[in-house]
Amino acid sequence: MENILRKFLLYIADSKRLEHFTTHSRITKPVVSKFIAANDLKTTLSICEELAEKNYLSALDYLGENSTTKKESKKAVTSYINILKGIDASKEKDSMNIAIKLTQCGLDISEEYAEGNYRKVLDQGKKNNIFVRVDMEGSKYTEQTIRMIENVYHEYPNTGTVLQSYLYRTTKDVVRLTKLGSRIRMVKGAYLEPKTIAYPNKRDVDKSYLETCKYLLRHGNYPAIATHDEEILSELIRYIHLQGIPKDAFEFQMLYGIRNDLQKKFIDDGYNVRAYVPYGDSWYPYFMRRLAERPANVAFILKNIFRKS
Ligand SMILES: Cc1cc2nc3c(=O)[nH]c(=O)nc-3n(C[C@H](O)[C@H](O)[C@H](O)COP(=O)(O)OP(=O)(O)OC[C@H]3O[C@@H](n4cnc5c(N)ncnc54)[C@H](O)[C@@H]3O)c2cc1C
Repeated sequence: MENILRKFLLYIADSKRLEHFTTHSRITKPVVSKFIAANDLKTTLSICEELAEKNYLSALDYLGENSTTKKESKKAVTSYINILKGIDASKEKDSMNIAIKLTQCGLDISEEYAEGNYRKVLDQGKKNNIFVRVDMEGSKYTEQTIRMIENVYHEYPNTGTVLQSYLYRTTKDVVRLTKLGSRIRMVKGAYLEPKTIAYPNKRDVDKSYLETCKYLLRHGNYPAIATHDEEILSELIRYIHLQGIPKDAFEFQMLYGIRNDLQKKFIDDGYNVRAYVPYGDSWYPYFMRRLAERPANVAFILKNIFRKS
């Protein structure tokens, strides 16, 4: 049942009609604010500064994906550049970096066009000495994303991407990007993928997650372990102790508003913890993926609806 609900939520995450309805509904607003930091950059930067005072690192994410016109992608690139300038001007600059999406840069228009836009963001990142992470999107973009990292990495070592343990291909991609030397964030994967290319069972996704993280902890360049899965995290902590891996050789990452207790616990234990902080108006697909990850979040929304009526 949970799996059907998950698939349904991921399916409607692509619906433009539902996006319009949901983003204009007053009912969803209080629930959305649990996962989305703010609408604007200024507020988001001050949230990240407050986090930094509590020893958190943060990654700012300007919400939106799949620009279909050059005008839209230019707007996204301008926003990315403004984030980098905003971080550069912050008193907590060293605690922040940025996550971007290649489809926002225009990957659906053409790979060459998106790469040109990505390079503009990288130029600013290089100038300000800020790391630029490319989020990984649906499998349609996996090869293009990895190829683009390979194209730019030697010129811009301040960039890296994300790999998803639910894809069969990931064990090879982990080795491929580790050889390149770029930083990798390891996640389980948040999109609806067919079983021809992705593990359909959570157990296999988790197993692959553990194995790839262990590989990255041994061989990777400052890997990011991005999960809220307590069991997996405990196993990885055991592994880190066993291998004598220093605490500053990697970081944990979690999403803003999710498992705050766990985030704080790791900070108190002296680990590097980065919160992924999304902001902006185009929150619908991001929000739907968060619901799909935990069907209990749907119950939280329903409760909110009944409380309002
Ligand atoms: C920092 C960060 C960046 C990410 N970047 C990407 C990316 O670029 N591409 C991509 O495909 N995916 C990305 N993801 C999402 C990722 O793929 C998973 O969908 C997401 O992290 C949920 O999986 P999990 O590892 O937390 O484990 P799960 O097995 O899904 O969950 C384990 C436990 O975590 C808690 N939990 C998980 N999700 C939620 C939620 N939404 N609400 C409340 N509790 C929850 C619950 O307690 C749950 O039992 C990112 C995740 C993080 C943390």
